[in-house]
Amino acid sequence: MDVEDLREALGAGTPAYRARQIYEAVYQRRVESFEEITGLPKAERAALAERFSLSGPEVVSRYDSADGTRRYLLGLDDGKTVEAVFMPEFHRDTLCISTQVGCPVDCKFCLTALMGLERNLTAGEIVGQVLTLARDNGLWADERRINIVMMGQGEPLLNLAAVLKATRILSDPKGLGISEKRITVSTSGITARVLELGVAEVRPRLAISLNASTQEQREAIMPITKKWNLEDLLAACKVYPLRPWEKLTFEYVLLKGVNDTDADARRVAGLLGNLNCKVNLIALNPGPGIPFETPDAERVLAFQARLKRSFPTFIRKPRGLDIYAACGQLKRMETLVELS
Ligand code: SAH
Ligand code: SF4
Repeated sequence: MDVEDLREALGAGTPAYRARQIYEAVYQRRVESFEEITGLPKAERAALAERFSLSGPEVVSRYDSADGTRRYLLGLDDGKTVEAVFMPEFHRDTLCISTQVGCPVDCKFCLTALMGLERNLTAGEIVGQVLTLARDNGLWADERRINIVMMGQGEPLLNLAAVLKATRILSDPKGLGISEKRITVSTSGITARVLELGVAEVRPRLAISLNASTQEQREAIMPITKKWNLEDLLAACKVYPLRPWEKLTFEYVLLKGVNDTDADARRVAGLLGNLNCKVNLIALNPGPGIPFETPDAERVLAFQARLKRSFPTFIRKPRGLDIYAACGQLKRMETLVELS
């Protein structure tokens, strides 16, 4: 709930400033019970506790990787579960959160796709993942270290209203206070929604999963791009209203022998040539039922070397591979299969 929602839920009988008081207590001070909102009369606190619940998603299981990464299976109010990942780094901590339970987009290299879509998450469940993980890892000691990537389960732009509402609460200085500069949303490229995102007053940074160097190649691994084709997507990127501090990010999953040749790298450089962007390369993280292989390290480096001539190009280091926490591996994996 934002302040407006709270105002409405509290009803006309409650003074208007109460909504703001409760909002700040919940998000800025992060109280864990109504009892702790000591600015409210005792009777009102009790009444709130009777009418509302203050719980976020609950930790059902946690898988700890040798590299410090933690994958969480979180329980929602209706009994469904969703995943989120905590990745500590030297200068910052990154929380990778979900926007849907499962995903309706059928990318052929992604384990989440095999779940299909179960449902959208609410704004509360998106913010709740941050609250739960930050609490479990003691991150509130210095929230300036926190980065949020909406790159867990789901296609965020197919749940845009909730994503934007969550972003407003997350970034509000009176909310969680995590600046929009430190929140990134990643999309498979739902062009119409990209344009919608661009005009939102408060919005995360944008990352786009390019993943191929031609329309034909892209269609073969991301069937949704038949509808949202490459040409229109790049046209939308060209007019996307970047803020002064912002660059577009393109993600590119490298699949051995499919999209990882020098010719591919050359074509990608051509496609993105006139955009203010950077590129993140991700060598495929394998999984059961995924019909692709991971390219060798030399191939990945050669691909990077070609793209680096045109834009800043990084290789995303896989995190939590041993616990199925890396990109494209979030599929509620409870038994840990040995990776070959
Ligand atoms: N649905 C959104 C965000 C979640 S996926 C999207 O697709 O952008 C986050 C990133 O992981 C995407 O760039 C996606 O292309 C990548 N990814 C998916 N499966 C992967 C896999 N098996 N190995 C490596 N990266 C993968
Ligand atoms: Fe969904 Fe992203 Fe996985 Fe594609 S890569 S199936 S859009 S989560």
